[in-house]
Amino acid sequence: MSESTAREVWRAVLGDLQLQLPRPTYETWLKPTEGISYDELSFVVEAPNSFAVEWLERRMYHALQKTLKKVSGRDFELQLQVKSEGDFYAVEKALPSPSQTVSATPTAPPLFEIRSFNPKYTFDSFVVGPSNRLALSAAKAVAEFPGQTYNPLYLHSGAGLGKTHLLQAIGKTCASMGMSVLYVTSEQFTNEFITAIRNRTTEDFRRRYRGVQVLLVDDVQFLSGKEQTHEGFFHTFNDLHNAGNQVVISSDRPPRDLAPMEDRLRSRFEWGLIADIQPPDLETRMAILANKADQLHVEMEDSVIELIAKRVQRNVRELEGSLNRMVAYSQLMNVNITLESTLQILNEMAPETDTRSIDPQRIFEQVALFYALSVHDLMAKDRTKKVALARQVAMYLLIYELELTPTKVGRLLGGRDHSTVIHGAGKINGEVTENGQIRQDILAIKEAIFA
Ligand code: ADP
Ligand code: MG
Repeated sequence: MSESTAREVWRAVLGDLQLQLPRPTYETWLKPTEGISYDELSFVVEAPNSFAVEWLERRMYHALQKTLKKVSGRDFELQLQVKSEGDFYAVEKALPSPSQTVSATPTAPPLFEIRSFNPKYTFDSFVVGPSNRLALSAAKAVAEFPGQTYNPLYLHSGAGLGKTHLLQAIGKTCASMGMSVLYVTSEQFTNEFITAIRNRTTEDFRRRYRGVQVLLVDDVQFLSGKEQTHEGFFHTFNDLHNAGNQVVISSDRPPRDLAPMEDRLRSRFEWGLIADIQPPDLETRMAILANKADQLHVEMEDSVIELIAKRVQRNVRELEGSLNRMVAYSQLMNVNITLESTLQILNEMAPETDTRSIDPQRIFEQVALFYALSVHDLMAKDRTKKVALARQVAMYLLIYELELTPTKVGRLLGGRDHSTVIHGAGKINGEVTENGQIRQDILAIKEAIFA
């Protein structure tokens, strides 16, 4: 039994789950877990505290066990336990810069704790090709001369093509030069802003954001649809931009397609440089895989790398996921990675998603996963509160995102009346603007669906 294998296998399980789960769920609960050991019967995984263990057991045990089986090919009993010692999060926390320490007012919360950087996301680990060259050069220029070259810098691409990677690389570079850097997702921005309004602390909020030299806002398409939040963002943007501070924004679409966004905000985004990232060509995909295999210290034939690169085309995250699974499989089964075994494993993997044509089934799966139910529960007669809520969320997404007719939705949901569907979807639609929790949940589910 090898500890490093347990770690690899678990990493592959996480890679798999990362593709399926809403990002906040993944980041909060799964990312900090670690595969520790395994034997004939059981597979041991550690989480940072008993709260996390409990949460995972209650809400995710089944999904974890299933994915572990899929990845390892064995029927382990999964054992979750509290991590024994050490500071789990220490490595992830960026150090406050000297200038930061001096200038920060005593009441301002430390900026760096809002979102720590992923140590993997550096300029060095970013493989360049024709599809991302412009975005990379722009990001590097911004990191070198923040506020001076392209301001704002607006990066957009489909999912899993390196936007977050580049944003964090910029952030880390600037932070290492002693600048105050803030990386937030637009969801975090929305939540903080709404909390500030509720607690009447918008002045503190403004002051805190105004003190930032480099602001990185990830996935701006998820900025709340509420006018107030756009207003808040608009002022934050202006404050920073007028002071010559750098703003970097990412999104899954160009500014002109940010539909519910106010024109004045959209036009601000167009002031600087807009750079898109396209899906990488075959050569770049192969280079990314070779690079990654190198980091994992595994040997891989070029023909295997080429095969994976040919099969997974549109999403670098999935590309990495495929590689992780190959590595986990070969270590667990103690076999070499051959063309044949690669083909077999790739065939078992989920097909790619095409964000332009989401299958209703995918919505059912993601909603069920989020609420820790099965797709069957959504279809069935069960009227418990939790199932009813999940079902209404599914109705809402099918109607408002896929634009299906209520009759069709009723049929898909196990033969329900169209008036039930209209009522359910309408109820959620009303709550999305009123209820912060629902809004957040739906954002997370949507993100997972369209990821
Ligand atoms: P996005 O934010 O666009 O959805 P991410 O930045 O999260 O995508 O990238 C997904 C994964 O793919 C990350 O692990 C990232 O490091 C990796 N990745 C994307 N593009 C590249 C690249 N050009 N070179 C190396 N890794 C990449
Ligand atoms: Mg991202």
